[in-house]
Order: sequence, then C-alpha cells, then structure tokens
Amino acid sequence: EDILRLEKVCKAYNVGQPTETEVLHDIDLEVDRGEFVALIGPSGSGKSTLLNIVGLLDRPTSGRLTIKGQDTAVLGDTELTHLRGHTIGFIFQSHLLISAFTAKENVMMPLLVDRGFPSPEIEAQASRLLDQVGLAKFANHLASNMSGGQQQRVAVARALAMNPDLVLADEPTGNLDTKSAEAVFGLMREVNRAVGTSFLLVTHNLDLARRCDRIIEVVDGRIQPDGAPLRS
Ligand code: ADP
Ligand code: ADP
Repeated sequence: EDILRLEKVCKAYNVGQPTETEVLHDIDLEVDRGEFVALIGPSGSGKSTLLNIVGLLDRPTSGRLTIKGQDTAVLGDTELTHLRGHTIGFIFQSHLLISAFTAKENVMMPLLVDRGFPSPEIEAQASRLLDQVGLAKFANHLASNMSGGQQQRVAVARALAMNPDLVLADEPTGNLDTKSAEAVFGLMREVNRAVGTSFLLVTHNLDLARRCDRIIEVVDGRIQPDGAPLRS
C-alpha cells in the first residue's frame, strides 16, 4: 500500500511571468507505508520544492499527487489543511520550536490547534511523546534552555503528535554534531520500525542515507534512475 504517489509531477515558479522556471520535471515517486526513504541531491536540485508539494504546502503545476489513495487535486484549501494536519508531520533543519514555551507545551501545540482547547488527554499524549524521545525529565524546561540536539528531539515528538502516516524531515540533523545527529536519526528510525510511520528524509549525510530503506537522488529537478552511483 502506498502512502504517497507522485505521477509526472512538475513544478514551475513565477508561472506566466518572464522569469517562469520549471524546477521539478516529471517526478514519479511512490513511498510505501512503513518505508524510510532518503532524499539526496545537490543544493538547488529541488528537494525542498518536492517536500513542499508532498507536504501539501504548495501545489504541483501539473501531474498527480495522491496521498493515502486520495487525489489531492480535487481538494480545496480547507480539505488540504485537514489532510495535512492528520496525515503529515514536519521536521525542519531549524527546529522552529517556540522558545518561550516548555518542551511539553511545544509538543502539545499541534494537538491544541486540532482540538481547540487543552485537556488532560492532550497533556498525557505530550508527556508520552516526550518520554518516547527520551526527554521526560525535560517536559517543563523552556525550549530556549535546551541544547540543539534536545530541541530537535522535541521537534520529532511534536511532528509525531497527531500520529501522522508520513513524516517529512528537511535536513533535521544538518545543524547537529555527529552524536546528536545520530540520536535524532536513531529516534526517527525507531519510530519508523515501532509504529510503521513512513519517513521522507532530506539529508546531505550519505552515511545516514545509506541506512535508510531506499535512496532517491534528485538532480536538476529530476529523479535519477535507480542504481545511479552516489556522489559525495
Ligand atoms: P534544494 O532544496 O534541493 O536546495 P530548492 O527546492 O530549494 O532546492 O530549489 C530548487 C530550485 O528552485 C532552485 O533553483 C531555487 O532557486 C528555485 N526556487 C525555490 N523556491 C523558489 C521560489 N519560491 N521562487 C522561485 N524559485 C524558487
Ligand atoms: P534550502 O536549499 O535549504 O531549501 P534555500 O536557500 O534554497 O534553502 O531556500 C530557502 C527559501 O527561499 C525557500 O523557502 C525557497 O522556496 C526560497 N527560495 C529559494 N530560491 C528562491 C528564488 N530563486 N526565488 C525566490 N525564493 C527562493
């Protein structure tokens, strides 16, 4: 069963203007439920653009994007927002935590946005997630007082709050030292194996990429054929 399917997806920026440029060309890609896929490629090749489309933050210029069997082209913005919130978790290079909030409050955010009001269930879920990422003791620490690696683990917990089918991670270890990067990657892999959450991980770290189920390489807006040698 695929959680994600792209068929002949193209993306152009500045459509209709003299500066119109197509940056993704005929992307075909499937990600199965439970798969952990690495997305690699040079800077400017289109990885973030692809992640934005898969994450329903931007729409393809042409082609078909199907998520959990649902053709997204027929969905309006409200429906896309709902599908995104309930299906996709995001982890970014800079964790984007709210620094004046505690670790637990940050993890609770997506749940609060979804339900509209706080509850003991939401608190319990946030505590459970922080426990899962090894930060139970830091629940009431302000995000701004935590190390980069700890903050990124909070971001992982937050991405998992809505129990997503697919997590999109854009260089989540890019700003971390080797040891913290290892911890964050190990954590994502563990969640993937334990819960069956699919991951699409953009990374420049080829050691991490090789430990994923599959590597997709994007060059100049195209997916390289399988078996293409890895550049470093
Ligand atoms: P990567 O994530 O692989 O570095 P990006 O998806 O960020 O690549 O960028 C792919 C190409 O699209 C680059 O040439 C970039 O300059 C261009 N691009 C990205 N975002 C925009 C935008 N909002 N408007 C115009 N061009 C963009
Ligand atoms: P990354 O390669 O890590 O994705 P970038 O520096 O390429 O980071 O992009 C950062 C932001 O700038 C993104 O939101 C992207 O869409 C935007 N961007 C990148 N290139 C362009 C461009 N040529 N014109 C307008 N926006 C751009």
